[in-house]
This record gives sequence, structure tokens and C-alpha cells, in this order.
Amino acid sequence: MSNPFIVIGNWKMNKTIQEALDFVEALPPLFTSNYLAVPYTCIYPLSELDIPMLQIGAQNVYPEPEGAYTGEISTAMIKDAGADFVILGHSERRSLFSESNAFINKKVKAALLQDLNAIVCIGESAMDRDQKKTTEVLKTQLLESLNEIEPSALSCVTIAYEPIWAIGTGQPATPQAAQEVHFQIRKIIEEKWGPKEAKEISILYGGSVSHETVTELKDQPDVDGVLVGGAALNIEKYTQIIDLVGGPNT
Ligand code: PEP
Repeated sequence: MSNPFIVIGNWKMNKTIQEALDFVEALPPLFTSNYLAVPYTCIYPLSELDIPMLQIGAQNVYPEPEGAYTGEISTAMIKDAGADFVILGHSERRSLFSESNAFINKKVKAALLQDLNAIVCIGESAMDRDQKKTTEVLKTQLLESLNEIEPSALSCVTIAYEPIWAIGTGQPATPQAAQEVHFQIRKIIEEKWGPKEAKEISILYGGSVSHETVTELKDQPDVDGVLVGGAALNIEKYTQIIDLVGGPNT
């Protein structure tokens, strides 16, 4: 039997604690594992609710264990607050905060040391795509972000393929195009870490996912889930997505 389809909602810098509580209380019953990546301030109050099948995580973390890093948060701190996972290398972190693959690699290692699942984002720009450099760019991001990660540790890593041109634009990759790229990502993982790891790792698609595209995405053999930004902020839109791919009848 294949793994259940994964849905991760990424709230970015949205929702106060009360808004977050109202949102999760309005969620339908969950039948497969769902993930919400929330602002740091919402991790503790949401994880305390202990909602069945709902994992709470962070959207970023600092890789050092402690020290004089004013304003930063460590992996031990998010774990202590109740986080199960952390998103790393989101394209907004890469572009707005100049995060390199090497820095993301440090974060991946720090997350794994705390037994947090690392959701590692990779994605090409429109220019990379137009210059037919997608596979090359993704390969570099993948190999450098996961540098020195042992095959056995990949069980705590999930890849999110998020083409930059599709994030927040309302212009998603077609399910067929996403499938083609996911197939290439799996091939890179197989070459570097082995066939078992390539088969078992989950590769999610992110970029303007909505209820209109999610069913066809789920039908693609190499798409193991979706990372949802904008549509995860609205309870009606998010519930529609969850019902389509993780509801009682799916
Ligand atoms: C994201 O934030 O990772 C994302 C994919 O956003 P959106 O769904 O709004 O494109």
C-alpha cells in the first residue's frame, strides 16, 4: 500500500494565536496525517490541543544550539514548544533572507539532531526554467542542502518541490509537469542515496495548489503530497483540499 497523501499548510507570517485556534477548531475530522507550519508564537498553543492526525511545525529555525543570536530560535526551542517538523529553505527565505544551500544544510542537520522532520524546499526560477536548467538547479539545491546526510537519516526528510514562478502567483505547474520534475528528483536521490531511499522519500509539490488542481496532482505517481500556502489561510478552501485528498472517502 502506498503512503497516505501528505498535506502541509504553510501560514507564513499570518495569524495571531486566537485566529490560529479558531482555524484549527473549524477543521473537519482528519483521517490522514496533516501538517500545519505556523508562526513560532502559535506552535505551543496549537500543539497543546493535541488534535488527532494534526502535526504542528515551524517555518524556519536557526542552526546553532544556543548563544548570542538575537532574535533567533533554535531547534531545541521549537521542539520544546511542541513542533514535530520544520520547513527549511523555502524560496522566500532563500530570496528575502539570502539563505544559501550551505546554511540550509546546517539547519537540516540541526533539525535531525532534535528528531524533527525536515521539509526541505527546492525550486527553480522562471529564468532557470526558460533556460532549461530546472534539473541542474534542483540537483545542486538538493545535493548541497542535504550534504553529508546519511541514507538512514533521509527517513526524517521530506522534499518539497516549489517552482518559484508558481508560488503565490495563481499559476501552478500542471500536474504532468510536476510529475516530470518529481521523477527527476527521485532519480537524483536514487543516484546519490540509493533505490530504497528514493522509493521511500516523500516528494511534495507546492505552488498555487488549490482544490481545482489537488486531485490530479494526487493521481501522479511521484507526487506524494502538497505544500499549500495561500489556500491554507482560508478554512473553507483548506477544508476543500483536505476533503478531496485526505477525507473519509479518499
Ligand atoms: C508556499 O508558501 O510554499 C506556497 C506554495 O504558497 P502558495 O500555495 O500560495 O503558492
